[in-house]
Amino acid sequence: MKFGGTSVGSAERMRAAAAIASDPALARPVAIVVSAMSKITDLLLDTMRHAEAGDSAGMGSNIARLRERHLECCRELLPAGRRAATEAGIAYLIGEFERIAGGMLMLNEMPPRSVDEAVAIGERLSALLIAEYLNAQGTPAEAVNAAEIVVTDAAFGNASPLMEPTREKSRARLLPLLARGVLPVITGFNGATADGRPTTLGRGGSDFSASILSAALEASELWIWTDVDGIMSADPRLVPGAVVLDEVTYAEAAELAYNGAKVLHPRTLAPLIEKKIPVWSKNSFATAKPGTRIVPAIHSATGARAVTSLARVAMISLEPASPELSGAHVMARALDALDRANVEVLVFSSSSYRQNFCFLVRTEELEKSRQALESALALELAHDYVHPIQVDEKVGLLAIVGEGMQGKPGIAGRIFTAISREKVNIIAIAQGSSELTIAIVVSRDGLEKAVRAVHRHDKRTRTQIPLTQNRTLIGFVRQKMYRRPGSLNGPIKICYAMSVLHFQNL
Ligand code: ADP
Ligand code: ASP
Ligand code: MG
Repeated sequence: MKFGGTSVGSAERMRAAAAIASDPALARPVAIVVSAMSKITDLLLDTMRHAEAGDSAGMGSNIARLRERHLECCRELLPAGRRAATEAGIAYLIGEFERIAGGMLMLNEMPPRSVDEAVAIGERLSALLIAEYLNAQGTPAEAVNAAEIVVTDAAFGNASPLMEPTREKSRARLLPLLARGVLPVITGFNGATADGRPTTLGRGGSDFSASILSAALEASELWIWTDVDGIMSADPRLVPGAVVLDEVTYAEAAELAYNGAKVLHPRTLAPLIEKKIPVWSKNSFATAKPGTRIVPAIHSATGARAVTSLARVAMISLEPASPELSGAHVMARALDALDRANVEVLVFSSSSYRQNFCFLVRTEELEKSRQALESALALELAHDYVHPIQVDEKVGLLAIVGEGMQGKPGIAGRIFTAISREKVNIIAIAQGSSELTIAIVVSRDGLEKAVRAVHRHDKRTRTQIPLTQNRTLIGFVRQKMYRRPGSLNGPIKICYAMSVLHFQNL
């Protein structure tokens, strides 16, 4: 089981989480992975930014808040007689954080490796509190730092697991605990390289930690406890009419997560596919609700299931300026440069005889992408063989996901009609040949309107794309190629998409 930040965000929520994990009705044994208390990861990162900027007062006041939040939780959670050791544990961990942040203050620097070590202290604090509470309640439990058992590469801030050593270490550490009836309370989000340097798996990475450990331990199921009733047809904060989906496939869930559905970390499903371990996404605030089951395949999937969006993205366009230079050559160079810079290309689209092409990257990766492209194409740019690189940050990505869209004509046309009715400009479109996802780049200021327009709730069919069909997308071809060197090494994902678009009336 995995409990997210809001599910362990207070003493009350920790009690609820402990009750879920120690429920005698559950099949045993159970291990849990926990996030930091809600907002703590942001607070830790903010503290380090204060340190880097030389602002020791800001750093100090944040650390005081960090200490107070955990000590208050400890006081509410544990009986007086059991508090001293836990308070000492909290003091030790916060002291560690202070030591690392103090180094950053002195150096005016935030080295990624130190950031990873420091930011994981949020999870270590919550694991300590929950394990102590379980013990106080009579459920033997032990806090485990995932740095001991999750072995990763050295991509600090966004590391990938090395499954074989992780399997060995986690089994050696956790199976004896489980055999003795001790419930392991494992920190989510973090790991360490084989030579012991601390790493983290990227923001929201505790879901990924839980799936890595589920695969390593060959768990029969993974339950992800969060603050909504399951995976929904849209982000409920954006679309009030969003409904919970009873079942989604691994592929659908992965596409939704990859395209912005925060409810799951994008890499969560990958470790589970081989052993076909089913996942439940459930609400820790409403445990009686069934939640969403994520399974390898659904036989009766129909149409579009859900719509999701990403606002913090940027569109990069490139166009050869000389007819002597082939577009394919420029594309290959550009994608190779992005791959080497470890940039994730979200959507790639190419059209027109001028062979211009564009692709979408996350805003956080924009600078890295620009630098990689400028250096890879330095010669072509200097000699005007390629037009200057264009960047548009006023865009957003909308993705409509559903395995059942395959072979169903007219869905894309209805989506475009719905968006154009809202007068939102469509900038680029891509669809995988599996027809699992239709990705649409729209102007940023119209993104939320477009999400709501595309999402229509119909009681019978769940998410239904609006039904007016007077504009048709005749066709577009896209090939997607995923490259993942090694088993799970890296978010290196290159999507090659070649699309030829013909619209009628759009
Ligand atoms: P946790 O802290 O438990 O990991 P997160 O905040 O990371 O939880 O993810 C849960 C949130 O994801 C929900 O509160 C919801 O607002 C958001 N969300 C976005 N898209 C979806 C979706 N399609 N279905 C459910 N929740 C979604
Ligand atoms: N605490 C980490 C974060 O906020 C990891 C997680 O909660 O999944 O990103
Ligand atoms: Mg999360």
